[in-house]
Amino acid sequence: VSVQKLSLLKAGYCLVDASSLDTRRPAGDMARLPIWSYLIETTDGPILIDTGMPESCIHDPEGFFRGTEDEGLIVPQMQEQDLITNVLARCGYAPRDLVCVISTHLHFDHAGGNLLFPHTDVVLQKAEYEAALKQDNYFDVCKDPTLSYHLVEGDREFLPGVHLIFTPGHTPGHQSVLVHTPNDTIILAIDAAYHRPNYEDGVPFAVRDAEQARESIAKLKRLAKETSAKVFFGHDAGQAEAWKVYPEFY
Ligand SMILES: [Zn+2]
Repeated sequence: VSVQKLSLLKAGYCLVDASSLDTRRPAGDMARLPIWSYLIETTDGPILIDTGMPESCIHDPEGFFRGTEDEGLIVPQMQEQDLITNVLARCGYAPRDLVCVISTHLHFDHAGGNLLFPHTDVVLQKAEYEAALKQDNYFDVCKDPTLSYHLVEGDREFLPGVHLIFTPGHTPGHQSVLVHTPNDTIILAIDAAYHRPNYEDGVPFAVRDAEQARESIAKLKRLAKETSAKVFFGHDAGQAEAWKVYPEFY
């Protein structure tokens, strides 16, 4: 099995308080962040990384966080076209076509559509699964126990050209993904860094464990150097201009 291409898929936007990008800033300003999913096409079939926001955010964006500590601080901007099954359909695939879903962590903007893949293996770090079961700040829609979880622990070559990189800090079991395509090596940092200043300048952002988050960034930097990888951040507002976004691919 080998990797044929990697596509960066847009899956809507989310308004968040800008202090989540830089925790030293006072609260009160909103920033508009892009939400991403990723498609790896292999000779065995397609692999989806992350599933965007929950369907309910299309018609009731404020409802999702109502009554939580994030009410008014996180406001999804999701359209019908951003629903992960519609994103995938534009690439020519239905859920049953997938080899698996790689779930980087169980936040609402990454695992919100996981329930739309009831017959697909969901590849997740064991530490994330256990944290989600124990902690009430994970949403039920993102940690549904009926899904077919394929739990992994730590770094591993998932298949030739696709490496899961354990990068805890943002959440207890967050993972990033390194992909070797025929012409490029790309690290999908996901939320190990929300945007470039978190990665380049050490600007502190919304994480559960700051020490772990710093170590994870250092790990990705070492890996990026070793492999000459380009690094794509989880929610950098301006980065996409310099990248090939679907229907272009790597
Ligand atoms: Zn995120």
